[in-house]
Amino acid sequence: MCPQPILYFDHSATSWPKPPGVAEAMQEALLEAGGNPGRGAHSLALAAEHTVTRARGDVARLLGVPDARDLVFTPGCTFALNLVLKGTLRRGDRVVVSALEHNAVVRPLHVLAARGVKVARVQADSEGHIDADAVERSVAASATRMVICQHASNVTGAIQPVADLADIAHEHGAVMVVDGAQAAGHLPLDLATLGVDAYACSGHKGLLGPQGVGVLYLAPGLSPVELVQGGGGGPSEEPAQPDIRPDRYEAGTGNTPGAAGLGAAARYLLEHGAEIERRERSLTRRLHEGLLGIPGVKVLGPAIDVPRAPVVSMTHDRIPPDEIAFSLDRRYGIAVRAGLHCSPWTHSMTGTLETGAVRFGLGWNLTEDDVDRALEAVREVCAGS
Ligand code: PMP
Repeated sequence: MCPQPILYFDHSATSWPKPPGVAEAMQEALLEAGGNPGRGAHSLALAAEHTVTRARGDVARLLGVPDARDLVFTPGCTFALNLVLKGTLRRGDRVVVSALEHNAVVRPLHVLAARGVKVARVQADSEGHIDADAVERSVAASATRMVICQHASNVTGAIQPVADLADIAHEHGAVMVVDGAQAAGHLPLDLATLGVDAYACSGHKGLLGPQGVGVLYLAPGLSPVELVQGGGGGPSEEPAQPDIRPDRYEAGTGNTPGAAGLGAAARYLLEHGAEIERRERSLTRRLHEGLLGIPGVKVLGPAIDVPRAPVVSMTHDRIPPDEIAFSLDRRYGIAVRAGLHCSPWTHSMTGTLETGAVRFGLGWNLTEDDVDRALEAVREVCAGS
């Protein structure tokens, strides 16, 4: 149970609360559709199958995926990224990656580098943007199998030109993989036209679903060969994993209540997403502007007039981030996150590798009043009162 009324600014870690319909859909999956989807033809198994198929269809509509079979349910964004990176990259392959990536990309690449995959990093500018020309120079310098870039930063909120990067990758015969953890549900997204080959999402952040479920979009032309896991499911009993989507990548019994919750969240976003995006944009600017007016505060990443995802991270010239976060929580009931946010590469770029930063992750349920209360609290904490 929640210990006190919380002003929740940690949506970049996980969204909370969830919109109406999510918990109900999960409960319904457990109480009324509790069979195993795709296993058996009795009514509860068919109801579970219907739950998963409906959820996949609704998430596909939300993300602009024409054929829902190209969407794989995973346990999260981390799993989705592991699936596509480890399934595709082989010894001798070269991958070009932005120097801003989250550990969900950095660590699988570390493993792959030990297996003989060559990793070339492209640096960002001082605001945390990747320059498409720099990516092109790197891709053109040597045969490249894959370009990887996040769509939006979980530290600075910087939005990367992933459609341009996809064009560059394709011109040079590479595939484009995007980490969409901080973009999906926050930024307008139409995967049919974005042109990327793989797009990985957390279900529990901007997509407003529960934890333990994510999605991986795999364009029809990209089929990771090596499987992270093989097992039951699909139409045949041959030892080889069936070569049909999405079954090939969903071996074993999946997270049916999670998919049901994510499907309900997708339906909520299909109805309210445009209005939520507008509000998040304006609240993000209000918070950014307000923080800039507090003596000693520095905001990381893009300048105020540059579009960003609803993530604003700050440091103070005197008070360490963890002290600020602790005071906000204990004295004001404001939940933010302090630290390195699983992104040491980005903290190196912003000069905050030693200290970390205080991160405000904005979300669907926040109001102007919430932002003003948070700003007042930061003002008081930073004044040492
Ligand atoms: N990439 C980025 C940019 C993230 O912010 C996160 C979550 N912090 C992830 C990947 C991993 O997401 P998950 O923990 O949901 O697997």
